[in-house]
Parts: sequence; structure tokens; C-alpha cells
Amino acid sequence: MAEPGLLLIRGLGHSGSTLLDLVLGAHPSVVGLGEASRVLLSSSADEFAGYQLSDWRSEYNKPCTCGSMVDECELWSGFFSNWPNRREASFEDQFSRLISPLSNQSINWIVESYQSDESLLKMQRSRRPVRVIHLTRDVRSWIHSEARRGVSRYGRGRSVGWRGLQRWIRVNWRLEKKLRHFSQHSFRLGYEELALAPEASLKLLCDWLRLDFCRDMLQPQNSSRSHVIAGNRMRYLAGRRSRIEYDGAWLSSNSFSLRASLLVPGVASLNQRLVYSNNVLGEVWPLSR
Ligand SMILES: [Zn+2]
Repeated sequence: MAEPGLLLIRGLGHSGSTLLDLVLGAHPSVVGLGEASRVLLSSSADEFAGYQLSDWRSEYNKPCTCGSMVDECELWSGFFSNWPNRREASFEDQFSRLISPLSNQSINWIVESYQSDESLLKMQRSRRPVRVIHLTRDVRSWIHSEARRGVSRYGRGRSVGWRGLQRWIRVNWRLEKKLRHFSQHSFRLGYEELALAPEASLKLLCDWLRLDFCRDMLQPQNSSRSHVIAGNRMRYLAGRRSRIEYDGAWLSSNSFSLRASLLVPGVASLNQRLVYSNNVLGEVWPLSR
């Protein structure tokens, strides 16, 4: 049996990666790991390095989305049982070790969604196929949610929308440039496409991954077989949503930075290219592009 491929969800944070990870993990040939590389790279991991597994188990054991606690999970328990020595290995070796139990199962793709990590992109040099989904949220929707987060974090301020716009441009432009080297191995997906036309978008994505489309992906909460222990996935699973829904709160916003964002040179075309390239939303959406 061929080694399962690695499917990376990359892009700017808060762009819908949790939803996409959950949706992909509902396919019977796909297993999601959430932000597994964040667990491996986290600085707090260093402080565990001298721990015996028994100490670690009693203090840091937590639930995995597969339904087991970490110390009984088929994936994470094997990984952590060698915890004291693992820092001697390279990141790529650690990751390979983590996913090795999945090699003998009938799985085509392993999904990883720590969006700011770039080290796993280098795994393309291994014998395992690596593909990347560049997931992007409409710049106006992203600015709106960033401003809401900013207000709760820093208080109300005029510049929060503009700072968000700059970040959206910088991160997405840079990633687009980087992924040019991946040519056939990367897929642009808009969060709006995924959330507003999930079936059409997921059929295209499945074709690209050479998977049959599976309707379970449209109701991901019921079918996911993922092993996620980090990120906001747990909260998502605990939420009320059983279908894919779109949060369109930005549509009624009068924020100047949001309304003017598409007038900034280059932004409208970048937004169009990254968010709406699959043409699944017809002519009406996105409004006033
Ligand atoms: Zn698990």
C-alpha cells in the first residue's frame, strides 16, 4: 500500500482552516491532525523533555478528538511514549514518527492545518506526496473579524482595520509567491467558496485529490475521524453547528477600511485570484468586487 500523502492547509490564521480540517477529516480516506506541528514545535514542549511518560500522563493528558485521551490515542500515545528522547530528532523525523501508525491503514491523505508553519512544506523531498491548500478568506470578511478580535484585545481604535489589511496582503502575497514552486501541488480555495457553495467546492477539491466526493463532508461533525489535540477544533466540535454555515456579519459593516480595501492597488485582483478562482459562486457574489 502506498504511503498516505500529506495535505497541508496554509494561509493567514482565522481564515477557516478549522472548518476545512473538520470537513476533510469526515472523508473515509482522510485523517485530520489539526495543528499537529504546533504541538511538536511549541516551546512548552521543551519543558517536558525531561519528563518520564508517567509524569507527563498524570499532568498533561488531555482528550483527543478521536474520543480517547492522549495516552490511549493510537497516534499520540505511541509518539509521547518516547517523549524524553524526541528532541534529539529533527522536526521532519518527529513528524514522520508521529504519523507512522497511519501507514498501514487505508488512508490516502493526512491533513495538517497549522497555518503559519512552513517546515512541513519541505517534506515534499520525502517519498510521501505533499500537497497544499492555500485557504483565503475574503479580505473584507477577514478585516471585519480581525477588527472584532482587535477591539476585544486592545480596545476600539481606528487603525485596527488598516493593520489587518496590511497583514492580509503581506501574508497572502508571500504565500502565493512561495507556492508558485508547487505548481500542480497546490490548490487555491476561498473560505467564501467553501462556506457558501460547499458541495461544488468540495467536489473540485476531491477531484484534485483523486478522491470520490463523500456527502459526509457536508455534515462534518458526525463523521470526523481526526486526532486533534491543539487549536480551537475542540470548541468547534462542541458547538451547535452540524452543517457548514457562513458568517456574513461583515456585509452590514460600514467600516471605512473594510469598504475601501478593494480600492488599494493590487488588493482586488489578489482577493479575486485567491478567494474566487474556482468560480463556484456565480456572478452575484462577491458583491461589488
Ligand atoms: Zn486520537
